[in-house]
Amino acid sequence: MGFEIMLGSLTTTGSLIAFAKLQGIVPGKPLVYRGQNIFNMLLLATTIGLFIYLIFVPTAVVPFYLMLTFAFVFGVLLVLPIGSADMPVVMSLLNSYAGLASAATGFVLSNNVLIIAGTLDGFSGFILSILMCRAMNRSMTNVLFGAFGSAATVAGVEGQQGEMREVGLEDVAVQLAYANQVVFVPGYGMATAQAQHVVRELGDSLEKRGVTVKYGIHPVAGRMPGHMNVLLAEANVPYSSLYELEQINPEFPTTDIVVVIGANDVVNPDARDNPNSPIAGMPILEVDHAKSVVVLKRGQGKGFSGLENPLFFKPNTGMLYGDAKDSLTKLVGAVQHA
Ligand code: NAP
Repeated sequence: MGFEIMLGSLTTTGSLIAFAKLQGIVPGKPLVYRGQNIFNMLLLATTIGLFIYLIFVPTAVVPFYLMLTFAFVFGVLLVLPIGSADMPVVMSLLNSYAGLASAATGFVLSNNVLIIAGTLDGFSGFILSILMCRAMNRSMTNVLFGAFGSAATVAGVEGQQGEMREVGLEDVAVQLAYANQVVFVPGYGMATAQAQHVVRELGDSLEKRGVTVKYGIHPVAGRMPGHMNVLLAEANVPYSSLYELEQINPEFPTTDIVVVIGANDVVNPDARDNPNSPIAGMPILEVDHAKSVVVLKRGQGKGFSGLENPLFFKPNTGMLYGDAKDSLTKLVGAVQHA
């Protein structure tokens, strides 16, 4: 029971803070202060100590309420220092804790359904969190204690030199219509714009003109693993047209034009080229190796990690500003007249 109460309490307040961060009620950026990790560790150790004490003296009232309070406070302090780009990992981890708490309740109530469902939920959430960390090339410790996206970690990568080159819709349409191979790279922006259906329409009309169309899918594009696969499947994009990172990266040098649809971090060359970048080592879709790149986004907004993206300043990159769905709808029309 103590395990269930401890884990359940910290999950409750942790989830409330995660909700408040995602709704913008509290700042989404990591909130950090000196000695934070040590304080959190001490608080967790004390809470676990009280839990162990309660196993031997289950009738002790004051330690019980202290454990409850400390677990509530720990939930808040656990999530506050976590950066916005890491929120999906934290949500999945909290989901896992909730599952384990349910499993513990199952043991208290001798309820097999709760034990089985809670255990499955707990472990699948945990495995999902580990997979997300792996795809971002980060350790779980770094996600939980690294305050990714804080001022300290982001410093040093701002102040990108050069200018972003804006391109016109008609030019992009002509480039697309006369290309041999086009690769679409969708990201979180495609999901928010709900542009998946019109992407397929554009792909279909290009294929009718004899253009080879492929989709490059990054494992952590969007906000959940498989986010892009689900959206494109909903729009009936054939599975055989979807290419994973390892399959599509060698194809970029021979690709005429890559259309980046609301993706940012997953195509940030700093992850490969700048060892000081907070996302250094994260595998990326190397779209900058293509002959030409067009980026569809609304403005100068950063990716979820809050980092500048040098791709947008490269000479072979053109920016097509606007909501992805609007831009793609206009492109479908323009390609037909090209
Ligand atoms: P991203 O880095 O979050 O960038 C999304 C871009 O889309 C923004 O730069 C934004 O720029 C643009 N955008 C937003 N709304 C748009 C609209 N309506 N039309 C056009 N563009 C729009 O996305 P990403 O490249 O997919 O990267 C995913 C990020 O989430 C990574 O940092 C990854 O590590 C993190 N993450 C993912 C998972 C996962 O499982 N998928 C889990 C944990 C963390 P504007 O504001 O200028 O439009």
